[in-house]
Amino acid sequence: MSILVVGSVALDTVETPFARVEETLGGAASYFATAASLYNQVNLVAVIGTDFPREYLDFWRGRPVNLAGLRIEEGRTFLWAARYHMDMNTRDTLDTQLGVYAGFHPVIPEEYYSSKLLFLANIQPELQMEVLEQVSGVSLSVLDTMELWIMTARAQLTEVIKRVDMLLMSEEEIHQYTNCASIVKGVRQLLDMGLQYVVVKQGSYGALLFGADGTFFSAPTYPLEEVIDPTGAGDAFAGGLLGYLSTVEPQQDGCYSVDQIKLGVVHGNIIGSFVCEDFSIGRLRTLIMDDVAERYQCLVACSHFDPDWRFSQPGQVKTVIK
Ligand code: AMP
Repeated sequence: MSILVVGSVALDTVETPFARVEETLGGAASYFATAASLYNQVNLVAVIGTDFPREYLDFWRGRPVNLAGLRIEEGRTFLWAARYHMDMNTRDTLDTQLGVYAGFHPVIPEEYYSSKLLFLANIQPELQMEVLEQVSGVSLSVLDTMELWIMTARAQLTEVIKRVDMLLMSEEEIHQYTNCASIVKGVRQLLDMGLQYVVVKQGSYGALLFGADGTFFSAPTYPLEEVIDPTGAGDAFAGGLLGYLSTVEPQQDGCYSVDQIKLGVVHGNIIGSFVCEDFSIGRLRTLIMDDVAERYQCLVACSHFDPDWRFSQPGQVKTVIK
């Protein structure tokens, strides 16, 4: 089952307290496509400028990434620059230059119409809406966004949120969008807009899944000893989530079961953890399914606990508290 992604393909300049890389492959759709192509074919819709290095295109051509929807326009590729703080969970955006995205309108090639999974990666909400107008019959549509669009295109973003099945947001973005101090209250507000699921991305602390049916699931985080660069972890998370779902059959009604979605979130956490081990898509280039399987077993082991525990006699309460 193939996956359709529309979002940014960029050249990123990233600075951490320990190193800096300049104009390397970045962009939400780049991270997503590279991650999800580990599982299945990805149909990419994006635009790049004539300055975009050919080696990245060659890399994608060597993987199941369909580039029929990738336009090359005269001008500069999307540029983004950011600096991370010591804890690596927070960063400052130093520069955003839309370049060729400023005049871009996504066109979904006919050969992409059969895609059953849709990821609206981070890009202007009006472009995300243009994509929704062109697709039909997807089993799951997932939306990502970021602070810039919450601040500058709130009304358009709201319209997109109302049209998709699942929203991915960081805790910070939920506070910004809903104005709620409590994440749970903020998520309730979002679910009331018609979403089936909200995933709260918590950086190095994992992810929370909330469902309109009352589902709550806390996906464990992989304890990474060293974070080199967390850029793209959210997009790679989405790549793991939709990548995994592309390998399983939805239920008879065409929707995924809650248990399938939960496993997707676990895969998202695993792939997100790998991305942080190098700059850009460095670690994704060498990642194989055996690496994913190993980390999966580690998460099972570290998050499993005895479901049968209970106080058998009132007297034992005191013993335990001592
Ligand atoms: P993440 O770390 O998951 O938030 O994703 C970071 C990626 O998003 C970087 O590679 C950037 O090139 C890309 N990006 C940053 N700002 C924007 C924006 N305003 N619109 C689209 N993509 C962006």
